[in-house]
Amino acid sequence: MSDCLFCRIVQRQIPASIVYEDEHVLAFNDINPQAPTHVLVIPKRHVASLDELGAADDAIVGELVRRAAAIARERGITAGGYRTVFNTNRDAGQTVFHVHLHLIGGRTMSWPPG
Ligand code: AMP
Ligand code: ZN
Repeated sequence: MSDCLFCRIVQRQIPASIVYEDEHVLAFNDINPQAPTHVLVIPKRHVASLDELGAADDAIVGELVRRAAAIARERGITAGGYRTVFNTNRDAGQTVFHVHLHLIGGRTMSWPPG
């Protein structure tokens, strides 16, 4: 989708600080990091939100989650702990409508989230 910000990052039309890429997945540093590690892990294929995922997307969801865990391990934040978040629609504060998994860590976090 040409008007989707994250599709444009996938297509290298907008720069990003990319930390991982393979055939199906891209991961890049969040432009407005909320913690020492704040990485967005996205499917290369455009899907607007979690609500639009179908059974055929089960594999890509697994890839996103396992990639987030792998990046956390690489960064040495696994033992301390980290948070993984999919924001969906208005009440959760979703601002970019291309599925993305936030990997947030490197500091202590509170619960419940605001
Ligand atoms: P959400 O609010 O869950 O939709 O998250 C969207 C995230 O994308 C926010 O944390 C933004 O800081 C981040 N973001 C927006 N534009 C960019 C960009 N050009 N490069 C990297 N991250 C971005
Ligand atoms: Zn997109």
